[in-house]
Amino acid sequence: LVERLRPFASTIFAEMTALANRASAVNLGQGFPDTDGPDGMLQAARNALFGGANQYPPGPGTPELREAISEHRLRYGTEYDPDGEILVTTGATEAIAASLLALTGPGDEVIVIEPYYDSYAAAVAMSGATRRVVSLVPDGDRFALDLEAVRAAVTPKTRVILVNSPHNPTGTVFTKTELAALAELCVEHDLLAITDEVYEHLVFDGVQHLPLAAFPGMPERTVSISSAGKTFNCTGWKIGWVCAERQLTSAVRAAKQFLTFVSGGPFQPAVAHALRHELPWVESLRQSLQARRDRLCAGLADAGFAVRPGAGTYFVCADVRPLGFTNAEELAWRLPEAIGVAAVPVSVFTDHPEEWQHLLRFAFCKREEVLDEAIERLRTL
Ligand code: PMP
Ligand code: GLN
Repeated sequence: LVERLRPFASTIFAEMTALANRASAVNLGQGFPDTDGPDGMLQAARNALFGGANQYPPGPGTPELREAISEHRLRYGTEYDPDGEILVTTGATEAIAASLLALTGPGDEVIVIEPYYDSYAAAVAMSGATRRVVSLVPDGDRFALDLEAVRAAVTPKTRVILVNSPHNPTGTVFTKTELAALAELCVEHDLLAITDEVYEHLVFDGVQHLPLAAFPGMPERTVSISSAGKTFNCTGWKIGWVCAERQLTSAVRAAKQFLTFVSGGPFQPAVAHALRHELPWVESLRQSLQARRDRLCAGLADAGFAVRPGAGTYFVCADVRPLGFTNAEELAWRLPEAIGVAAVPVSVFTDHPEEWQHLLRFAFCKREEVLDEAIERLRTL
């Protein structure tokens, strides 16, 4: 393995899931749902599979899916031409990697906010750019953006800021004030923004998801990324997308065409169907996830953790110190065999593990009985 990828030899999700399986543990580590998406979407995939949609689809994605994505983004007041401003990708993961490969290279700096989704650091390394990491800070009951720290991280070499909201793993949803300040900073320093919005629909307590691209000065400098996996319980389909101004989209497409060329033929019509017809199903998913977040948070608190529930995503971060532990990473590797529960240590998503070593990330995108079983086991800690 080349040196720049050596730190990324394996992912925490693969390792923790393998350990959970070996120990027959309840897996609240890797974030994937244990129920299927809407029937209508599954039926549409079946129809496409048996209807001949099994060869290479068009490079930018099928016209029908690009139109459905464009219509969907109108909900935020942002307009994208399906012909040239939308690109279908192999999940958000490819969209993030292709965007970084297309827009950054050696000598450029990318600002990444930690804790960060694990693929960001690897994708920045693949592009040859350098990551500059800024930490979220605890602020009352949430983790907040430290705008002064972001500002201090900007240098003449900064090209891109990578923004994930709703945020994995903290569940933070950036406020209008935080996003407006980020937008001003991008405009002031002529930065591009790459936004990861895969949890855009999974927001709770009346909180709204706002895309950075909707702020003044941002439409022309933002690559907005999302995907079907989390919205429609189909993480294995790997259908994602990029929405951006024409030149940016065409740059990302140049990279994408030599990574995977095209993506998931029979799944594209099914996701187009889902975006057009299944948003009521998504609303019931959202409500049920909010209830499951509350159930898991209450169980974790009862088991002795200090919990800071987020306003979105699949995840909640729990502080292990009230239980007498100091190192959540060490605990995470022992938990599956010790009590039959798997969780992910937050420190692995950071460049400053010592600052984050007291937190474990638990996924609540599981059936209630699965959460209850995990809670029962955690009570024995
Ligand atoms: N970004 C974040 C923040 C995620 O949690 C995930 C994992 N689902 C992804 C990107 C990857 O999304 P996809 O499966 O569509 O590639
Ligand atoms: N996004 C999911 C998580 O954060 C898992 C994705 C993966 O396994 N790479 O748990």
